[in-house]
Amino acid sequence: MDATFVLLPGDGIGPEIVAQARRVLELIGTRFGHHFVFHTGLIGGAAIDATGDPLPDETIRMCTEADGVLLGAVGGPKWDDPNAKTRPEAGLLRIRKELGLFANLRPIKTFPELVDASPLKREVVEGTDILFFRELTGGIYFGPSSLEELPDGGYRASSTMVYDTHEIERIFRLAAEAARRRRNKLTMVDKANVLEASRLWRRVCAELAATEFPDVEYEVVLVDAMAMHLISRPTSFDVVVTENLFGDILTDEASMLPGSLGMLPSASLGAEGPGLYEPVHGSAPDIAGKGIANPLATILAAALMLRHSCQLEEEAVAIERAVQDVLATGARTADIARGSQRVLSTVEMTDLILAALQ
Ligand code: NAD
Repeated sequence: MDATFVLLPGDGIGPEIVAQARRVLELIGTRFGHHFVFHTGLIGGAAIDATGDPLPDETIRMCTEADGVLLGAVGGPKWDDPNAKTRPEAGLLRIRKELGLFANLRPIKTFPELVDASPLKREVVEGTDILFFRELTGGIYFGPSSLEELPDGGYRASSTMVYDTHEIERIFRLAAEAARRRRNKLTMVDKANVLEASRLWRRVCAELAATEFPDVEYEVVLVDAMAMHLISRPTSFDVVVTENLFGDILTDEASMLPGSLGMLPSASLGAEGPGLYEPVHGSAPDIAGKGIANPLATILAAALMLRHSCQLEEEAVAIERAVQDVLATGARTADIARGSQRVLSTVEMTDLILAALQ
């Protein structure tokens, strides 16, 4: 197939890890007979330095015309001045908006070789393989909010959780379709015992589950219970779908399960147009330029891009398998090395992935 990818390296370790993911994509193209074209765009602090804008129009244009966008990370101390006119993170929020990305997918998978790095016991966490769908453009983060001063000198603040039926339906369908391709189990998380918005989620999701996805095993769990279940029995979940605020908190909680931030990719999808793929971690300014960053989360994000934006499942699985096989040989970057394990550089780790893919 022909596909065009936009690479947005960003700041800190972004350029180092995106360059390695590109090597992996190029090899996949050669091995499977695809024609991949790459364009590179500016975002974040690097874009502010070059143009004064964290998301130049040229970047937006490139991204909207692409099949997939692979982002490194944005931000760093250089752009942290609270009085600055703009910040790198503004570029990230805007690209999500420009591309209409309403669903954030976060796979949480433990690698058997790294399970001992998890804060949980091996017997609890081993085998965890969850795919979160977090609604990204609605809910309390985007509803009306207010701050008013009261006659007694105090203040009253409010933030409102707002959802329309279609916002719930579109992400539920994505999640239920993903469940069909996985272990066929879908968990919807809400707070329907208290919140009106959650009661709408529950009604709309129950209706869709019964009418469009009767073959998918469906359950609902209250968010407070879910916070506990994720720690006590994470292996009992397959696909989880939830609204924005609950998803924000639960996915961060779940990101601790595998024990290393350097291993976790994420994808953000819209109704049409390209998805945005990135590692969950930030720009790691403390190790930028040293050549020691773990490239695996970004390489796994590239696998998600092939799966979700190009429907290249076999190619995505090949990358995921290569990562697993390389870890099984004991290969480690500094962030995941233990004891006397030899520590590999960013490039050396990628070399092993490429060799496993040959
Ligand atoms: P961080 O994820 O960048 O780093 C946290 C710790 O993990 C650091 O010690 C870092 O060295 C380490 N780490 C992260 N990724 C690694 C990798 N691939 N390999 C090895 N070690 C890795 O989080 P932070 O320090 O809180 O934030 C740094 C900057 O990144 C801030 O400016 C923040 O705003 C930004 N940030 C950006 C994104 C994004 O672009 N999506 C996300 C989170 C944070």
